[in-house]
Amino acid sequence: MLENGSENDALREWDGENVLHPWENSATVRDRSRTFVEGAQGIYVYSEDGKRLLDGPGGMWCVQIGYGRRDLAQAMADQAMQLGYYSAFNNSNSVTAELAHEIAARTPGDLNTVFFTTGGSTAVDSALRFIHYRNNVLGKPEKKKVISRHKAYHGSTYLAATMSGKERDKGWMDVAHELVHFLPDVNPYRRPSGMSVNEFLEEKLADLENAILELGADQVAAFIAEPILSSGGVIVPPEGYHKRCLEICRKHDVLYISDEVVTGYGRLGHWFASEDVFGITPDIITCAKGMTSGYVPMGAAIISDRLIQDVVDSGKDATFSNGYTYSGHPVSAAAALKNIRIFEDEGILEHVRDVTPHFQERLHKLRDLPIVGDTRGMGLVGCVECVADSRSPDPLALDHAVGARIDARCQELGLLVRPIVNMCVFSPPLIITRDEIDEMFDLLEQGIRLATDDLAREGLWKAA
Ligand code: PLP
Repeated sequence: MLENGSENDALREWDGENVLHPWENSATVRDRSRTFVEGAQGIYVYSEDGKRLLDGPGGMWCVQIGYGRRDLAQAMADQAMQLGYYSAFNNSNSVTAELAHEIAARTPGDLNTVFFTTGGSTAVDSALRFIHYRNNVLGKPEKKKVISRHKAYHGSTYLAATMSGKERDKGWMDVAHELVHFLPDVNPYRRPSGMSVNEFLEEKLADLENAILELGADQVAAFIAEPILSSGGVIVPPEGYHKRCLEICRKHDVLYISDEVVTGYGRLGHWFASEDVFGITPDIITCAKGMTSGYVPMGAAIISDRLIQDVVDSGKDATFSNGYTYSGHPVSAAAALKNIRIFEDEGILEHVRDVTPHFQERLHKLRDLPIVGDTRGMGLVGCVECVADSRSPDPLALDHAVGARIDARCQELGLLVRPIVNMCVFSPPLIITRDEIDEMFDLLEQGIRLATDDLAREGLWKAA
């Protein structure tokens, strides 16, 4: 805990010297200026100096039930005392079995088999490895390629990172290029001028089908898609896109992985968005984050019974050699079970559906600000995209760090947002009230105005 001056200095020193943070840049690797977050309650976190900050990103799109829930902590403590850990490789335990049953009851169609992982990347990795394993077992070892999309984010393990289509994240990193094919951006805001959203939809569907035909359906194992491309800037594809993509996949015997690491667990007002929001029953759903509301790590690849049966029916003695020491960790499972109970006892899904119209209305109102080119979102997730000139959506003409500038100004005002290049995204805890939504957007609007003034003063932005 950062309390007094010298201790504060020491901890800052250790953080700079001894911690390599995620997504660290070589230029800031020894940075000692990070905000230390030392406490949290409800939708707020507290920095080392006691400052209260409304948590716009909800941790990292994950703290669904909010911070400081004693009942969730107690469920974890009770489980830790009863059975703190045991391996799931050759044994089982009641809390993990019960959790799998509860998850299966909430997934669409025949997605009833849960492979527990340690987070979202390992869920995606396991889903892909399962598909490769199945195709090997079925005697189709050449059917391995995966189709993903520009601006997708699927994680940070080698395979999941391979499927991620954010070019800026790949500049200095290696991936398995031969396993993936990327489709162009599906963001309707970036469609060519003069093209209708419907024409754009048809073009995006043709992109998928043409890719399968060009690569050869016998080479393509799966299509992986976030229902909303979250880290890519909350990109909501045109209506009907997912349903038609699934039809194309079915036609060509290509499996569909719906990556619900962000959209699962209530973000769009439902346990899972695939069927309830987008009308599809994919072959595998991946989830993590909101599963435990971020209190402990856990993820899952939820696999269709049909795929499991394919492997069983093959009659082969084939091991799925994929698993983690902490697959089905009992303490994480206890947290995930309690999380489901809290969602139900407190009507969290209903609450999200209830406050979503207000959240989205306040979000879209930000379009009135001259630096804002687009606002987009669904449920309790949103994005503000800034542009140099609201009539020409060319983010490259603008200072790339505008998202970070807004974040810095918002933090001074008492709000955290997540900056991504020229965008800010937010996905607050799902318990956020209507008044707190107003507080969040009031602060955001002020922060954007202040950052715009800064840019104008520095000659980096000019009103149209
Ligand atoms: N998939 C999606 C859609 C994500 O947004 C993320 C993380 O943001 C991941 C996978 C990776 O999850 P994790 O960071 O838990 O490994």
